[in-house]
Amino acid sequence: MALADLGWDDYFAGHFEQLKDGDLIPARVAEEHRNSYRVLTVNGLLSARVSGRFRHEACGYSEFPAVGDWVAIRLRPQEGKATIHHVLPRKGKFSRAAVLAGKTEEQVLAANVDTAFLVSGLDHDFNLRRIERYVTIAWDSGAGPVVVLNKSDLCEDVDAIVEQVETTVLGVSVCAISATESEGIDRLTPFLTPGTTIAFLGSSGVGKSTIINRLLGEERLKTSAVRQSDSKGVHTTTRRELLPLPTGAIVIDTPGMREIQIWSEASGMDRSFGDIDALALGCRFSDCSHLTEPGCAIQQAIADGDLDAKRFQGYQKLQKELHYLRIRQDQKAHRREVKEWHKKISRTLKEREKMRDKGVY
Ligand code: GDP
Ligand code: ZN
Repeated sequence: MALADLGWDDYFAGHFEQLKDGDLIPARVAEEHRNSYRVLTVNGLLSARVSGRFRHEACGYSEFPAVGDWVAIRLRPQEGKATIHHVLPRKGKFSRAAVLAGKTEEQVLAANVDTAFLVSGLDHDFNLRRIERYVTIAWDSGAGPVVVLNKSDLCEDVDAIVEQVETTVLGVSVCAISATESEGIDRLTPFLTPGTTIAFLGSSGVGKSTIINRLLGEERLKTSAVRQSDSKGVHTTTRRELLPLPTGAIVIDTPGMREIQIWSEASGMDRSFGDIDALALGCRFSDCSHLTEPGCAIQQAIADGDLDAKRFQGYQKLQKELHYLRIRQDQKAHRREVKEWHKKISRTLKEREKMRDKGVY
């Protein structure tokens, strides 16, 4: 296997070169376990741990390697293992807020995803607002979104729904497929080019495992039909995986991605709610809250039937979430500063002690 087959490109090569250490080799994190990782190198899978120095210098959970990360490792040939010394800068990341030891921490679920397949079922699961949110999450995470509407075999009027989704998430590809009937799967092929890293987001039961198995060409992942008869297998594994597809693309399949919570800057917002922002420019007051003010272009658009009230509610809900998230992040940044400061002080104190021992004072 060549590095490019694992998703290596000029971006990562450039950052790797800057490390200027001939002993290090690049590897991609394929699995995360409690205290160790499994990384893919050109020579196959290796078990790896982060170096003591890395652990000491890391300022937060999100700085540790995550599935999809490119890392610089040193081999320990006598043990057949490796030590991770650096995580190369990420192109993007999917994160969620996790509470660890009473603190809200960012947990990276998958790094360096190029394309996110946002899967919904064309059955009762279908929900436009949720698709919108997933699109926002994908943009925020540095991945190009592709909406996949699965279970087309269970839907009477597929074309009408595809059109409805297309007008809601303007500019985003929408593919209707049936994984069990193997119908329309080839609509996904243009996105599965060699070296492209893809991930699947969507609620449980929409058919993500079934689609991945179709793309793999084998029944590698357990689908829920199987899981139900096998009550043990569910949720007992914390394994996260990188799966190379026959097309040369790489699937990141980590359980946490399936019910992802938002953790992001507001950047993705402009892209999927751009029409609402554009409308707001027409409000009489520049700080219009779009609730009761006179001359509100958004309320007018809703009254005229040009803007779906539910869509506006989705926009407001997301803004509120981002607002609270930003407050929590600010608090976290503050704690990090304090921690850095403590580190610095204790280093200075240690230096002083050393000097004193040497009789400088
Ligand atoms: P996941 O939780 O998203 O990974 O969903 P699974 O792949 O486990 O699928 C959940 C259930 O939906 C299983 O019983 C699948 O057989 C079924 N399923 C998946 N794709 C389709 C489809 O295209 N049509 C129909 N009718 N059922 C499907
Ligand atoms: Zn307004």
